[in-house]
This record gives sequence, C-alpha cells and structure tokens, in this order.
Amino acid sequence: MIQTHHLLAALFATAVAASAHAFPDKPVTIVVPFAAGGPTDKSARDLAEVLRKAFNNQTVVVENVGGAGGTLGANKVAKASPDGHTLLLHHIGMATAPALYRKLPYDTLGDFEYLGMVSDVPMTLIGRPSLPAGNFTELRKWMADNKGKINLANAGLGAASHLCGLLFQQAMAVDMTTVPYKGTAPAMTDILGGQVDLMCDQTTNTSGQIEAGKVRAYAVTTLKPLTTPALRNLPTLDALGLKGFNVVVWQGLYAPKGTPKPIVDQLNAALRQALKDPEFIKRQEAMGAVVVNDSRLNPVDHKNFVEAEIAKWGPVIKAAGQYAD
Ligand code: ASP
Repeated sequence: MIQTHHLLAALFATAVAASAHAFPDKPVTIVVPFAAGGPTDKSARDLAEVLRKAFNNQTVVVENVGGAGGTLGANKVAKASPDGHTLLLHHIGMATAPALYRKLPYDTLGDFEYLGMVSDVPMTLIGRPSLPAGNFTELRKWMADNKGKINLANAGLGAASHLCGLLFQQAMAVDMTTVPYKGTAPAMTDILGGQVDLMCDQTTNTSGQIEAGKVRAYAVTTLKPLTTPALRNLPTLDALGLKGFNVVVWQGLYAPKGTPKPIVDQLNAALRQALKDPEFIKRQEAMGAVVVNDSRLNPVDHKNFVEAEIAKWGPVIKAAGQYAD
C-alpha cells in the first residue's frame, strides 16, 4: 500500500514535470502591432532572442501586424489560441486606444493575460533634415511663421507618436496635419526624405539617426535630460517652457485571455529571466530605453498599472476630441 502510494506520487511528479517542460512545444510568435524596423519591432526582435534562450532554444519569431494605431495587432492576439504560443508586445497604446476607438474590437483589460512590463522608452522630437530650424527656439519661430502648413508623422490613432504629437500640438497651440503610418519606421523614411516635417518618436528609433546627424533633433519628452551618449545634449520639452511635458513609452508583454495559469507563470518566469540578460540590457540602454526588473514584472501589478494609465490618458484624449470608429 505504502509502495503504491509512493509509485503514484512519483508518477504524478513526473507528469507535472513533463507538462511543465512541454511548453513551448512549437515556435512562439511575438506579434508587433506596428511595421518592421520601428521601435516596437526592434525591442521585440531583441526580446525574441533572449526569450529563445529562456525557452531552451525554442524558436521565437516576430510577426508585424501594423495599422490602426496598433489595434489590429492587439486584436489578432486577443483572438489567438490561448496556448501561450502567440504573444503581443505592445506599449502605452494599450491605454490610449480605449478612449480613441468607439468600436475597439477587444477589451484591453478583459481579453489578455498580463505577463509583465518590458521597458520604459523616452521619446524625442525630431524633424526632417532640411527643416530651417537648428534648435527649439528656431523651431518655435518656424512653426509660428508656417501655421497651417506643418505636418506631423505618427503611427496612427493611439500610437505613442500620436499621443506625444497630440500633447505637443496642445502645448504649442499649433494645429498640424497629421500623417499616419503603420509604424514609425516608414514614417522615419519620410522624415529622412523630407516628405514630412516633424515626428515625436521613441529613442529606440531615433537615437541612431540623431547620432549620425541625419535628422533634426529638438528635445526629449522626459522631465529629466537623458544620459545616453547620443541623446544627452538634448533639452527636455519641460525645460524649454512646455511645463510638465512628460511622455515615457512603457512596453509590456501579453498573451490571450484564458492561457492556462501554469503557462502564464512560465511565460512570466521566462520574461524575468530574459530581462536580466546583460547584452539585452546594454543594447536597450544604448538606444535610451530602460529595461524593467522590479515589481512591474508582476502580472497583477502590470494590469493595475495599465488600468491606471487608461484612467490617466482617457480624459486627455477625450479633451482633444479625437475619435476613430
Ligand atoms: N513608435 C510607434 C508609435 O508611435 C510604434 C512603432 O512603430 O513601433 O507608437
């Protein structure tokens, strides 16, 4: 009898261990809700590499599902099979979309398992290289002289570049024509080519271009100046007179709602392990991003944080009167 009991216990332990090791049993896809080559995509590709290690070399691929300010990609993951093999890397757009889209096809808080945050990414205000304004004071004057003719690129309603651009227009009291793209990688191409004037974008997309002197760089969107070598000479918009201007793009990882708890736990453990990778941290820091490694890696804390972000940005967006159907 005692022996049978031991045998059953041993079999049970083996079964648990086997099922724990069974995940992931096929390639994992990280859906990026923006175009390839942009900031979210860059973070996802770096993250895929460290997650692969955390998943015992299981393949991790990145799929770009850009459009509609990130809502198409988020929706795809909301409706994906909840087996942990389809993940979403998204950002502050998780919190801006509910206020912007009258018919958002998913429920931000109800349709996802929250796995944890990944990083905080500051933004920069940049301009086309041919813009006749070398610094922010000159830009202010150029904007005053060119009212009604200025355009501003973004990655669609709800994107970080949209939110930042909205706050910038409000703070400057200048209306600009917004030009939406499927991500800020194609928007950057048009900034470089001179087809659009200005863009507010994550440092993970702009630091290289700024360092190479390929774009005009006017300011950072954080309250404190940045220490990243490529960006440390840039003033903050706050110090330039746009008091309180502060936009930092947090990024988080999500799975479809209904993903079994043991898999959510394994994904969270893999994320924690991945974010400790010194190479990953170094690469992100070189582009101005700060990888998180604290309580924000706790799924419950991250979900509470997103809920608070929805409450924070909703009224700001509604006040601007912008909606999409
Ligand atoms: N930077 C984009 C945004 O404005 C997203 C992207 O292309 O990664 O949200």
